[in-house]
Amino acid sequence: MPSFSNPSEIAREALRLLAVRRLPPSPENYQALYHEIAGTSGGIAEAFPERELKALIAALPTETPVQQKLARRFEQALKGKHWGEVQAGLADMLRQLAKESDLAWSDLFADFLRQWEGKHAGLTVARKREALERVLASGSGNAELFFGRLQGLIRSWALNSPGEPESPLVEPAMVDTLAATSPVVGDRAAASPPLSDEPANELREIFAYTLEEVIATQFADEPDIAADTRALAHKVRTSTSRAAMEGLLASIKRFAFRLEILAEDRAELRTGLLNLLQLLIENVGELVVEDHWLKGQIDIVRDIVAQPLSIRSIGDAENRLREVIFKQSQLKHSLNDAKETLKQMLAGFVDHLAQFADSTSDYHDKIELCAERISKAEDINQLEGVLAEVIRETRIIQLNAQRSRDDLRAATLRVEEANKHIGELQLELDKASTLVRHDQLTGALNRRGLEEAFDKETARAQRRRSPLCVALLDIDNFKKLNDSLGHDAGDAALIHLSTVIRETMRPQDTIARFGGEEFIILLPETPLDDAQTALVRLQRELTRRFFLHNNDRQLITFSAGVTDLRPGDTQASVTKRADEAMYAAKQAGKNRVLVG
Ligand code: GH3
Ligand code: MG
Ligand code: MG
Repeated sequence: MPSFSNPSEIAREALRLLAVRRLPPSPENYQALYHEIAGTSGGIAEAFPERELKALIAALPTETPVQQKLARRFEQALKGKHWGEVQAGLADMLRQLAKESDLAWSDLFADFLRQWEGKHAGLTVARKREALERVLASGSGNAELFFGRLQGLIRSWALNSPGEPESPLVEPAMVDTLAATSPVVGDRAAASPPLSDEPANELREIFAYTLEEVIATQFADEPDIAADTRALAHKVRTSTSRAAMEGLLASIKRFAFRLEILAEDRAELRTGLLNLLQLLIENVGELVVEDHWLKGQIDIVRDIVAQPLSIRSIGDAENRLREVIFKQSQLKHSLNDAKETLKQMLAGFVDHLAQFADSTSDYHDKIELCAERISKAEDINQLEGVLAEVIRETRIIQLNAQRSRDDLRAATLRVEEANKHIGELQLELDKASTLVRHDQLTGALNRRGLEEAFDKETARAQRRRSPLCVALLDIDNFKKLNDSLGHDAGDAALIHLSTVIRETMRPQDTIARFGGEEFIILLPETPLDDAQTALVRLQRELTRRFFLHNNDRQLITFSAGVTDLRPGDTQASVTKRADEAMYAAKQAGKNRVLVG
C-alpha cells in the first residue's frame, strides 16, 4: 500500500477502499480504514472487548432467519474469541442491511469519487472534507440516513461543477431539489453559496417524526386521521421536486385546517362533557334521599357514554338529562305531597278509631253496670233512673258513631282531593314539556330543541365554511289517514315516519317535529344536490317500509322542500324558503322533493 501523509489523501483513500472492499460505509469502517492507511492506532482496542460485544450481540435483531443465523455466528466467534470472524460477521450483516434497504452503495461511491476529484466553483478540497466529515458524523448508526445525506452532498457538489452556470450557482428550480435531498454543502462563506440543506433535512425529519409519533398517536380512536397523518409524514420525507413540494404545502395547509377544526370540536366536546357532569353532580346532592332517582340519571349517562362520543351525542345526553331531572323533581314533589297527605289522613283516622274504641268500651262498661242495676232494682222508681242513663249513654255513642262517619266522609273527600291534585300536577308536567327539547310522541326534537340545534349547526357551518341544508317535509293527505283510521293510527304513523327518518338519515343529521305532521331535517356538511338526493332516498325507503295498521299496509308519502343556508339567513328565512319549496311540491302533485 502506498503511504499517504496528507489527511485529505488519506480520507480519499479510505473512501476508495470502502468501495473497493465493498464495506458498508459506516463511520466506524471509515475510521478503521483511515487509521489503517495513516498507520495510526486508536481505532480498535487491542484487548478483545468480550463484555461489550456480548451486550452488542444481545441487542441485535433476531426476527428473520438471516438475522438469527448471523446472531449464532457472532456467538460462536465470541466464544472462540475470533476477532476476524466477528469483523466479517459484522460486515456481512451491514451488507445484508444494505441489501434489505436496497441502497446502491457502489454507484453512490463511484459518483462520490467522481465529484471528489472534479473541480467545483467555490469549493476547495478542505471544504469538501469538512462537509464530508459532517455527513459522516451525522449519519452515524443509520445507514439509510447516511446514504441519503451522502447522496445529497454529491448532488450539491455536482450542481457546482464548471458545466453549471456560475451565477446563480443554484437555479431557483433546483433549490427545492437541493433542499430536499442534500443535507450539507461545504462552503457557507462563498460569494453565492449553495443552500445549506442539513437544517432543512433535519427539519423535514423532525416534522415527519412529529406527525408520526406525536400527532398520529393522538388519533388512536380516529383511524382515518391517523392514517392520513402517516401518509403526510411519508409525503414530507419523499417530496423532493419543486412540484411535489408545492403539492406538499397544499396538503399541509389542508391538514392544519383539519386539525384546527378537530381541536375546536374537541374543545366543544370537553365543554359538553363538563356541563353534563356538572349537571349530574349538582343534582346528586338533591336526590340522595331517594337513591333510585339518582340511579335513573346515572343509567342515562352510562348509556350515552357507552356509545362512541360525539358532540351531538353529548348534547343529546345533556338535553335528556335535563328532562329527566325536571320530571323527576316534579314527580318527587308531588309524591312527597301525596305521601304527606296520606300520612296525615292515616294518623287522623287511627286517632279517631282509638277514640271510638275508647268510647264504645266505655259505653259497654256503663251498659253492663246499668244491666246489673236493673237486675237488682226492687221497684219501678229505681228503674227509671237507670233507663234514663242507658238512653243518655246510647245517645252519646250514637253521636260518636255519627261523628266518626262524618270524619270518614271528610277523609274520603280529602283523598279524592289529593288524587285530583296529583292529576293536576301530571297535567302541569305535560304542559311544562315545552321546557324539554324532545317531542313526547315521536322522540324527535321539538321546536325548542330545533332552535338550539339550528344555532349550533349554523355556527359550526360558518366556522368550517361547510354547507348546511334544511329540509321541511309534510305528510301527504294525513287528514284522510286520520279520518279513516283514527287519531291513534295517525299518531302511530307519525312515530313510524320519524323512525324511518332517523334510521335512513346520517347520525349527524338533526330531526325535529316542526308541527303536527311536519318535520324539519338539518343536514350539516351537505351540498344542496346531496341533500335532495338524501330526501329522495328517504322517500324510497318509506315506500319500502310500509306503515302497518291492524296488519294492513298503509303507504305514507311526503312532500318536501330543501334549501341551503345562505349568507344573512336566519332560522326563519331559511325555514320559509324550505316551506315555499315544500308548498310548491304539494302544488306540483305531492310525493316529491323540490329545491328552494
Ligand atoms: P296535505 O297533503 O296537503 O298536506 O294534506 P294533509 O291532510 O296532510 O294536511 P292538513 O294540514 O289538511 O292536515 C293535517 C292533519 O294532521 C290535521 C290534523 O288533524 C293532523 N294532526 C296534526 N297533529 C297530529 C297528531 O299529533 N296526531 C295525529 N294523529 N294527527 C295530527
Ligand atoms: Mg301540514
Ligand atoms: Mg300534510
